[in-house]
Amino acid sequence: MIENGNTNVTTKIVTKSRTGPQELKVDICVVGAGISGVSAAIEAARLGRKVALVDGLPALGGQAVNSIIGTFCGLFSNGPVSERYQLTHSIADDILRDLGKAGALHYRHEGFTTVVMYDEVALSRWIEETVLQAGIVPVVGAVLREVHREGRRIQAVDLATRYGDLRVSATGFVDASGDAALTWQAGLPCREPADAVIYGSQMLVLEGVNQERQPEMGEFFRRQKEKAAEYGLVRTDGFVMAFPAKGTALVNMTHVETPLEPIAAAVKGIEGKAQADRVLQFLKSEFPEAFQHARVRAYGFPGIRQTRWIVGRKQLTADEVRAGTWFDDAVARTAWPIELHNYSQGYVWEVFSDDHVHYIPLGSMTPPDVDNLVAAGRCIDGDAAALSSVRVMGPCIGMGAAAAHALDMAGEGSVHELNVAELQERLKDNVTRRN
Ligand SMILES: Cc1cc2nc3c(=O)[nH]c(=O)nc-3n(C[C@H](O)[C@H](O)[C@H](O)COP(=O)(O)OP(=O)(O)OC[C@H]3O[C@@H](n4cnc5c(N)ncnc54)[C@H](O)[C@@H]3O)c2cc1C
Repeated sequence: MIENGNTNVTTKIVTKSRTGPQELKVDICVVGAGISGVSAAIEAARLGRKVALVDGLPALGGQAVNSIIGTFCGLFSNGPVSERYQLTHSIADDILRDLGKAGALHYRHEGFTTVVMYDEVALSRWIEETVLQAGIVPVVGAVLREVHREGRRIQAVDLATRYGDLRVSATGFVDASGDAALTWQAGLPCREPADAVIYGSQMLVLEGVNQERQPEMGEFFRRQKEKAAEYGLVRTDGFVMAFPAKGTALVNMTHVETPLEPIAAAVKGIEGKAQADRVLQFLKSEFPEAFQHARVRAYGFPGIRQTRWIVGRKQLTADEVRAGTWFDDAVARTAWPIELHNYSQGYVWEVFSDDHVHYIPLGSMTPPDVDNLVAAGRCIDGDAAALSSVRVMGPCIGMGAAAAHALDMAGEGSVHELNVAELQERLKDNVTRRN
């Protein structure tokens, strides 16, 4: 009981009065608050631009936070550990510094490159605080429903929120929606896989894991294949990554379809959780030393890899990725393997040599028929295999930064007519720096 509490709350009667949408005007509107959109928004705000960061989810962070991806990949070069260097800087530097200080990171020096595990709760709070400090207007729980385009310019986007409609008009737009939602709604051409399923995954965080007794990897993979039918496993090359000293582990062992149709997407999302539950049964029964006391701490939101993406001025190809082709308009880079999840049991995994780097051209981020739209992240233009190697979070951060600078330089003009040398000078830490 609250002493001296007052229960006299008066009420008033209200009825809906607003007729049109609430309006917001900014310089740059970023649709999608995953790691690419967050990167674009923070970079644009640091350039002095007024920015809105929009997402359909009620929280910032996209898949990096809400699907609990858990590991930054594609951020470091390949090669011997002592010679590896960071390929993307921008907000990656701030994240590595701040989460590192908070003990929320774990560097894994794998055979060919270094990946960085992160605590998704710490990343979520870092994004929220940084977005507010940068003066960005967060617009969450806001689903894109219409795009207003006049000729070669997008003028505004209409958003539906639980609190009413909102129209955001801007000079420049970033499509960081992952599914090219902005480009699609603008009536511009997009690509979808024609004859294959590209699978997503239902991520799981387990707690109560005995990290000292992790199974040996060879045996782990062998057992998945051998026991798949018994446990109803779809995917047989999944893996578990323990976060040291936390008793938790990240489980990436499912393959789930991620259709672009709303009801099918909802059903597949639920089926994905059932698949993850079967994975947990497999882990508990087959590797009890490590997992007998494991419980689900969190299911991520459905993890979506490649669904629909833009048609850009240039399509990045797998051959260009393999060759490490340099582009005159290169704006981001990575050395991550081709990682194409196009069959249910596993995925194509093509690792590159020690000195390999591949580049992302601005042309693959820019639809040719509009002047003020740049895509970033997992919906840029590539063939399916090329896209699979550049959609990881390291290069997503690089693409976000590039989108912000391109729109900052273009202003009322066109992203197709930029001084590319100046753009690359601005982005040199993410394109040419080697330390
Ligand atoms: C299961 C899985 C495991 C992965 N593992 C790794 C890994 O270990 N390391 C790594 O680096 N990468 C990994 N990846 C790849 C990586 O996570 C993604 O490609 C990357 O996070 C994409 O970031 P993004 O910002 O482009 O898109 P997203 O994070 O998907 O963000 C897009 C945002 O746009 C919003 N949005 C979409 N449509 C609309 C709309 N109509 N209106 C409003 N908002 C909308 C969404 O809500 C979402 O928040 C993995 C991917 C998956 C699926």
